[in-house]
Amino acid sequence: MSDHYLILIPEKAGHVPAEEMRAHVQEKFRAITQPLKVEAELTEFVRFEHAGGNTGRIFCPDCGTELNYAWWGERMDQDFGEEKSFKLNPVVLPCCGAKRGLHDLKYESPQGFARFSLSALEPEMWEIQGQPLIDLETAAGCKLRVIFRRI
Ligand SMILES: [Zn+2]
Repeated sequence: MSDHYLILIPEKAGHVPAEEMRAHVQEKFRAITQPLKVEAELTEFVRFEHAGGNTGRIFCPDCGTELNYAWWGERMDQDFGEEKSFKLNPVVLPCCGAKRGLHDLKYESPQGFARFSLSALEPEMWEIQGQPLIDLETAAGCKLRVIFRRI
């Protein structure tokens, strides 16, 4: 048996909405998705919010070439560094030479980097797009990225 989570992070990596907005979007997220529970996580450092078993391929956002998984892993280690916080410095992509941060790569199943996240365990509603997404973004006061995690 796997656990399934629907996760929201700000589209702008590391952005933390004001306290009132965080409470507001958490309540709205619960109301829309009807999960077993919703948890908010706020950390000092920028962490990786992954898709777990849903993790797919990774592509260059500029030319669409698939990026080598081992290459990506090395960039992750370098960026995380001894500070144990992602800096998301631009790296030169081996395909076309574009300079992009790890948050801006094209993840087949969305993933991203955040200080603030909301996770809904086993939601009834998975379709976070259109009006529900607009409502959540209005509550949070920022654009959001939706991640589907299976553990
Ligand atoms: Zn490229």
